[in-house]
Amino acid sequence: MKITVIGTGYVGLVTGACLAEMGNHVVCLDLDARRIASLNQGQLPIHEPGLLDVVLRNARAGRLEFTTDTDHAVAHGLLQFIAVGTPPSEDGSADLQHVLAAARAIAERMAGYKLIVNKSTVPVGTADRVRDTVAGVLAARGLAADFTVVSNPEFLKEGSAVQDFMRPDRVIVGSEDHRATELMRAVYAPFMRNRDRLVLMDVRSAEFTKYAANAMLATRISFMNELALLAETLGADIEHVRTGIGMDPRIGTHFLYAGTGYGGSCFPKDVRALIKTAQDAGQAFHILPAVQAVNERQKQVLVDKICARFGPDLSGRRFALWGLAFKPGTDDMREAPSLAIIERLLALGAEVVAYDPQAMDQARQALGPRAGLSFAVLADAALTGADALVIATEWKEFRSPDFAHLAATLHERVVFDGRNLFEPAELQAAGLEYHAIGRGTAS
Ligand code: NAD
Repeated sequence: MKITVIGTGYVGLVTGACLAEMGNHVVCLDLDARRIASLNQGQLPIHEPGLLDVVLRNARAGRLEFTTDTDHAVAHGLLQFIAVGTPPSEDGSADLQHVLAAARAIAERMAGYKLIVNKSTVPVGTADRVRDTVAGVLAARGLAADFTVVSNPEFLKEGSAVQDFMRPDRVIVGSEDHRATELMRAVYAPFMRNRDRLVLMDVRSAEFTKYAANAMLATRISFMNELALLAETLGADIEHVRTGIGMDPRIGTHFLYAGTGYGGSCFPKDVRALIKTAQDAGQAFHILPAVQAVNERQKQVLVDKICARFGPDLSGRRFALWGLAFKPGTDDMREAPSLAIIERLLALGAEVVAYDPQAMDQARQALGPRAGLSFAVLADAALTGADALVIATEWKEFRSPDFAHLAATLHERVVFDGRNLFEPAELQAAGLEYHAIGRGTAS
């Protein structure tokens, strides 16, 4: 099938590459010329495990093209996937300018039938706006409307995006048109040969499903973080509690981790957007503002512990910080909790030497040059001269450090673990003081 994907970010690039992997001929369009140039040189603009192989293989086979040429891209695909960003507006609602610009770009050029597939996360009713936008442009061009708009929200996770796309839990398709539905079934059939995982529904329900999923996941995180806070006060260990509740199949083990709060490009903005949607619909959403408030507080918990240990004035103190990305497996720094941690440590006069396996360039861009902040090329190098180690992201390479070496290197022999990676007794045995999340007082 001939497919166009508009937007080559985390979602668009993975979608385009994986659709090409199944034998489709895919053209990926982006307005960012640098991004397209680097893709055409075989370089990925983002870090995503396994993606480079898929991109290179399909580009070499001639099934995957990258372009800034909108005429070419629109002419190419029978299906036009829109996978552009929907960042938050000032009032919290999703900013649809890129989605509507993509819709206009299609409408201004299309000559025959197009199936417009909206993959961006957009509020309920957006498909109607896309439809009106396209119909308006076509009417101005004196053309009869021959297109369909469907909703196909994306559920991939950064860090395992290729695997998630290739083996989806479910594919949600919001379509009220038979021809469009059959085309969507045909596109996704190769990804679900063992079991049909395509869930067909009306367009508005599909749009809503994406927000409902992210809001539920964010709620789980904040709920666990709130339990963790109480566990600490009560002298219980949230890690035991997590195991205990997770074995109940009604609860399940996933997404039950206490930590430094959720971040990333999706949960914060999607929670905000859903609150705004509810407000606009005349409904006060009671749970989600609490989810947000708990998350904001949680981003401060680790530095609160540092201040409780070293006092509120941290001048003269140096901290090694392991982990910058909002989660492991990605270089995405959008709304990463590490940013709040670094900002506050620097504001309190501390020096921070940070290390991340993938996100240091993005972190440099996000934070800009800052007095007191530097980056180490290796995790170990960050420890030199540090009073304590702070862990903000649970990269695999941080999971089994040499505790004896940590104890010998850190001046104050203290570890502040925002991801509960270790057994407290092991650190204690190595002579380290261990502060984690929801695990009682320091071991
Ligand atoms: P991103 O910011 O990484 O990439 C968006 C890309 O679109 C950019 O490269 C930008 O230059 C390009 N773009 C913007 N306007 C364009 C236009 N008119 N024509 C062509 N290109 C244009 O975004 P992302 O993280 O891939 O997210 C895309 C959408 O998918 C968002 O709505 C997001 O909420 C949703 N989503 C993201 C994830 C995720 O994990 N990142 C997961 C599921 C859904």
